[in-house]
Amino acid sequence: MVICEFTYKHYTETINEYIKSGYSIINVSDYFEGRVPQGKVMILRHDIDYSIMEAVKMASIENSMGIKSTYYVMLHNHYYNILTPMNLHGILKIQQLGHEVSLHFESKSDFDRDVKILNEILGVQTKTYSWHSPTCIPEKIKRNLPSAYDEKLLNEFKYISESCHRWREGCFCNWINKKDRMYVLTHSLWWGNKDLDFKQLLGKTVADMTFGIEEFYEVNLQKINIYLKELYGAV
Ligand SMILES: [Zn+2]
Ligand SMILES: [Zn+2]
Repeated sequence: MVICEFTYKHYTETINEYIKSGYSIINVSDYFEGRVPQGKVMILRHDIDYSIMEAVKMASIENSMGIKSTYYVMLHNHYYNILTPMNLHGILKIQQLGHEVSLHFESKSDFDRDVKILNEILGVQTKTYSWHSPTCIPEKIKRNLPSAYDEKLLNEFKYISESCHRWREGCFCNWINKKDRMYVLTHSLWWGNKDLDFKQLLGKTVADMTFGIEEFYEVNLQKINIYLKELYGAV
């Protein structure tokens, strides 16, 4: 019996079921660049709202399944900094795993500047972008890149998402063979080896934010002690 939960097991068994049912899995720029196969198709997308390292885990799982998707990353995120060595390595790793990395954009930021920065970081041109919190967009501003919320795309494909840790229209496993053209958005933080509650998921974000902090202080303390010893003798 299939249990709908936010586990890697259910994620992979569902994706495998889509593939077995004849769906081709493509990324967002495949759609905009005309690489949409005939027949059943699923566009697969991830918005990275909380943790790049969780996205890397999902990207590795997808790579081992032989599929490619789009990961949208934020430049101005409260929970992660794309330029820390760990996160930068993570983003480049997602690219190396064959996925597309593009901009997850906030309306208050400078779009052209952010695209430029991300292009510089990735070493490739950002092809599309997705809005963070699209319901909060004050106005429909046209940008120079295709949007993941493009009207034509949303008309052609059945769009479903587990935003805020909830599938509003049922888990994506319920949509296999119901619509030939599916567009699925997920958020890697929700998914893991175990089905976690909201508080436990928050713990994963905190763990990422504080990664290495104890070692950092330990090393600095040792350096300060050496410095003080050189200045004043024994301390
Ligand atoms: Zn399910
Ligand atoms: Zn978002």
